[in-house]
Formats: sequence, structure tokens, C-alpha cells
Amino acid sequence: MFQDENYAAVENENTEYVDETLVCKDCGNEFVFTAGEQRFYAEKGFLNKPKACKACRDAKKNAGKAPREYFTAVCADCGGEAKITFQPSNDRPVYCSACFENRKKAQG
Ligand SMILES: [Zn+2]
Ligand SMILES: [Zn+2]
Repeated sequence: MFQDENYAAVENENTEYVDETLVCKDCGNEFVFTAGEQRFYAEKGFLNKPKACKACRDAKKNAGKAPREYFTAVCADCGGEAKITFQPSNDRPVYCSACFENRKKAQG
């Protein structure tokens, strides 16, 4: 029965956590659900394993409290995608950052 000592300790005190490789549902990349994270989840009473990798979870977190909102418009100059921080209005042309810089330079 002494042979079972270790086994009993594992059973009663700490579950032995082992790093686990999961696949992110968002980006499809594999990520490691570490032993430490598993313990943290267990302590918090979370029953579900994380579905997304840390990068995707962080991205979501940041998206929720994003300080600025970006609008996507078509650059009036090159026709490329222009990311702007203001709501595009139809009466004013919108330029991508590259074209915007060029125009500023051109105007002196
Ligand atoms: Zn991901
Ligand atoms: Zn452009």
C-alpha cells in the first residue's frame, strides 16, 4: 500500500495539470493551455477550456474598449483602402495615409 502514496497525494490534493495544446477557433492556430492556466481556471471555477488563443482573446478584449473607431473608405486618389478615424462624408474625398502624406508634401 506504500506504493500508492504518490498516487493518493495527487488524487486528494492537487490535480496534476499538464500543458495541453488546443486549437484556436478564431485563427485556427494551435496554442498551449498551460498547466498554470488550467489551475487558474479550476480555481476560478471555469468549466470550459479557452476556445481562442491568447492573441485572439486579447484582440477581443481590446476591441471591446477600443479608444477610437476606425472607418474604412476608398481612397479618392489610389482607390485603395483608407482607414480613417472620422465618419466619411460623401462631399469630401478621403485619402489613405500614403496619399494623404503625398498630398501634404505636394501642397508644401
Ligand atoms: Zn487565435
Ligand atoms: Zn491612396
